[in-house]
Amino acid sequence: MLPDDDAPVGEARGRCMCGQVRFVARFPSRFCCHCHCESCRRAHGAAFVTWVGFPAAQVAIVAGGDAVAAYASSPGTRRTFCRDCGTRLFFASERWPGETHVALACFDDPVDRPAEGHAFFAEHARWLRWPVEPPTEAT
Ligand SMILES: [Zn+2]
Ligand SMILES: [Zn+2]
Repeated sequence: MLPDDDAPVGEARGRCMCGQVRFVARFPSRFCCHCHCESCRRAHGAAFVTWVGFPAAQVAIVAGGDAVAAYASSPGTRRTFCRDCGTRLFFASERWPGETHVALACFDDPVDRPAEGHAFFAEHARWLRWPVEPPTEAT
């Protein structure tokens, strides 16, 4: 398949914390947004999770496949992680068939679009001061 004339070309590499699991995601992505749902917050131990969505066929695990495990966080939903270091890598759900959502934080290379938009903001962490302001002094 030939890419659209104006589609970004290239790919971005990523990995888990311990480095065993390595993946490549081929552009173009479909979206990049912050998810504030309770499941993402709990699964990642974070205020929210920034996801980059790709057609599933454009995301490939290129190393460490033996270390990959998945957890069904709700029916029809899979969260893929490294069984050794616990890094959460991918999300897939019957709600978004044919897509793999990749945690932006796991990429080493830049992706093809900025993060924009907020999903499930109604569920956002009440302890998060919003908007997040950068610190005024280096820490
Ligand atoms: Zn790992
Ligand atoms: Zn979520």
